[in-house]
Amino acid sequence: MFDLIIRDANLPDGRTSIDIAVEKGKIAAVQRKIEATAKEEIDATGRLVTPPFVDPHFHMDATLSLGLPRMNVSGTLLEGIALWGELRPIVTRQELVDRALRYCDLAVTQGLLFIRSHVDTSDPRLVTAEAMIEVREKVAPYIDLQLVAFPQDGYYRSPGAIDALNRALDMGVDIVGGIPHFERTMGEGTASVEALCRIAADRGLPVDMHCDETDDPLSRHIETLAAETIRFGLQGRVAGSHLTSMHSMDNYYVSKLIPLMAEARINVIPNPLINIMLQGRHDTYPKRRGMTRVRELMDAGLNVSFGHDCVMDPWYSMGSGDMLEVGHMAVHVAQMAGIEDKKKIFGALTVNSAKTMGLEGYGLEKGCNADLVILQAADTLEALRLKPTRLAVIRRGKVIARSAPRIGTLFLEGRPASIDSGLDYIPHY
Ligand SMILES: [Zn+2]
Repeated sequence: MFDLIIRDANLPDGRTSIDIAVEKGKIAAVQRKIEATAKEEIDATGRLVTPPFVDPHFHMDATLSLGLPRMNVSGTLLEGIALWGELRPIVTRQELVDRALRYCDLAVTQGLLFIRSHVDTSDPRLVTAEAMIEVREKVAPYIDLQLVAFPQDGYYRSPGAIDALNRALDMGVDIVGGIPHFERTMGEGTASVEALCRIAADRGLPVDMHCDETDDPLSRHIETLAAETIRFGLQGRVAGSHLTSMHSMDNYYVSKLIPLMAEARINVIPNPLINIMLQGRHDTYPKRRGMTRVRELMDAGLNVSFGHDCVMDPWYSMGSGDMLEVGHMAVHVAQMAGIEDKKKIFGALTVNSAKTMGLEGYGLEKGCNADLVILQAADTLEALRLKPTRLAVIRRGKVIARSAPRIGTLFLEGRPASIDSGLDYIPHY
């Protein structure tokens, strides 16, 4: 007898009517018609069952602070940074912890169980790092939280930043961050990439930099990041977040850059919601989209995963912890609406992000952790279209969240009494 069996599930790889058996927190069998019984059985009734969503780029220290101490009037990245600089000195550890825990509650109901968060280390008190380390411990039973030491105000530009970043790593922050395009000069940006990769190599840590989050086509720090990755032997352990300048770069230059990034096995993390909101702000018309070259990077074999980046903070007033909202935007901005395109986008919210974060035991194969989400949709393409309700969220074989299906009741003569948007409108492909 198993601990749990989920019956009649559709899987992200296209298999249908599959049963998933769970034993001691691990997936014990994935096949049609498991004859055994279990202590608990859940009938997925032909809906999608997927491994949880993974957000490889977030700001847990700023989330849910929208309106504190004021709103971002221009809506720009730079005013967002300035506004966060106003809030940071007055915020307490307890407030940071409380907001982060509330966000994690929301994330669980959205089936989002793995998050990599940048932590601003610009304030030498490091209240943010202390708070986020506390949160990482508190949420560990239900969310894997990775932390990046992020010198938001610049590694060289902000006095004390070098020391503070190293102290944050000493405290147990997991990953080395950076923001080369925000340093005073291109030269200092380049030097910061070199210095931060050296720290990562010396400490045996991964790297994840905010890199080239600008519309300036000459912001080419990703080239340095790829080259330093190879020089320090960090291949596969380095992520380039945003890379929006690639949108505006010269095509010939990009034809040399992408193979270099592939050689360095850079993990690429676009943030579609934030990129479409913040980039192109100095343009009149036509306005650039500003998201990096997702299709071309995927075609070159690079691991591309999408981040949520912000939810209700100085940079972004929207967001709901829903990675399918991120994927929905990616489909539009990257213009990837074909069947195979959408499958790749779904992968960029799940398996690709798991690879970026180096997660072990992630997936639907026998022996993986029994971390599963049942959605009110038939397949991955429908999930991207509908952003459906997460009917059940399972962590190590235990149901940790449930939501009632969204069923519309109709009062129209001659028409159906109710509608399940997840199963009543399945397309004909
Ligand atoms: Zn970010």
